[in-house]
Amino acid sequence: MTFSTDIASIWDKIDRIDPVAYGQTRNYVDGDVTYLSPYLSRGVISTRQVAAAVLAKGYKPEEVQRFLQELAWREYFQRVWQQLGDDMFDDIRVNRTSLQTAALPAAIAKACTGIEAIDLGIEKLYSTGYMHNHLRMYTASLVCNIGKSYWKLPSQWMYYHLLDGDLASNTCSWQWVAGSFSSKKYYCNQENINKYCHTQQKNTLLDHDYSLLPTLERPEALLAQERPELRTELPSTPLPSIDPSLPLHIYHNYHLDPSWRADEPANRVLLLEPSHFAQYPVSKKVIDFILALAKNIEGLQVYCGEFSEIPHAYQVPSIITREHPAYQHIPGLKDARDWMFPQVNRYYPSFFGFWKKASPYVQKLSPAPLQTAAAY
Ligand SMILES: Cc1cc2nc3c(=O)[nH]c(=O)nc-3n(C[C@H](O)[C@H](O)[C@H](O)COP(=O)(O)OP(=O)(O)OC[C@H]3O[C@@H](n4cnc5c(N)ncnc54)[C@H](O)[C@@H]3O)c2cc1C
Repeated sequence: MTFSTDIASIWDKIDRIDPVAYGQTRNYVDGDVTYLSPYLSRGVISTRQVAAAVLAKGYKPEEVQRFLQELAWREYFQRVWQQLGDDMFDDIRVNRTSLQTAALPAAIAKACTGIEAIDLGIEKLYSTGYMHNHLRMYTASLVCNIGKSYWKLPSQWMYYHLLDGDLASNTCSWQWVAGSFSSKKYYCNQENINKYCHTQQKNTLLDHDYSLLPTLERPEALLAQERPELRTELPSTPLPSIDPSLPLHIYHNYHLDPSWRADEPANRVLLLEPSHFAQYPVSKKVIDFILALAKNIEGLQVYCGEFSEIPHAYQVPSIITREHPAYQHIPGLKDARDWMFPQVNRYYPSFFGFWKKASPYVQKLSPAPLQTAAAY
């Protein structure tokens, strides 16, 4: 599995979406999923663009509701971050800090839990930077609810490797599985894994009836712990060359949209701040992916350094970026992100509260992008 980075092949993937088959098969590891998350997370394309492209083919919203809802999950988690701020990185609804360990089971890090589908999923995560949604849920459930690890470090481990690493989807999903952002913990058993991953295993750590899973002691196989080293090596780059008579347009690891203000003369800088990656480390594979996507943006200079070190940053006529919770410290104008539901911008404790408000707007999903300043 490879993720091409040129715009034509990304739009080709969008064109090939079968939203009806998606609804029927998305839970299977070989189901008809889109593999669009690395591009959505990096802001190359938006959930609104994908939803509008699918609806433009004539599907009625109710026929493709499952697909639209999944896109809306991403947006929901982004709104949670926007509204809660950094409180999102602690238990959101239910305190789970009393779990037995804060580290990661070594069997997970080494992909040797004995559950074939999960082990293969982790190996693929390392080699491709992608993991199917169900395997993410199985892995998180095994770590938090069977291995009794606190969700934080394991979520950072997974985020580190994902090309689609998105702090909101990742943190909230781990908390959802662990039961700190939901009303109950998520459990899966071997039978469920066998069904959706086409395996036929028996007598594994998870080969139990659902009623037994919450009562199990931490299994021997998950007792050994480790703290994986998560560190980002950024390439060294020269200071960007800035023309002080032109605006400064800032791109970042979640904002790589080649169509954003594309016609305006500007200094365009992709800012990869060491301070951001020290807090939220990602692998070299992820950095390489970001750099490859950046090639779609004409005239973009890559700068691995802090915003405050950009020459002439305070002499240019304006500084513009896109609103994002991780980049609030960038001064200047912040354009709104291209939301599916710009109207639904409050905090909802559950996705279904959000969806209830959002779904009436599905009919009105605008085919035109929302790129006005400060309307978030
Ligand atoms: C423990 C855990 C960690 C996760 N970490 C991340 C992460 O770091 N980054 C990330 O983008 N997604 C994350 N997800 C959500 C989901 O697994 C991925 O978005 C999805 O698997 C991406 O593959 P796809 O594009 O083929 O998805 P598809 O199934 O084709 O879905 C289309 C799009 O809908 C959205 N979507 C689908 N399912 C979900 C979901 N459960 N939650 C949020 N949005 C969804 C995504 O934007 C996705 O690209 C996580 C889920 C879990 C359970």
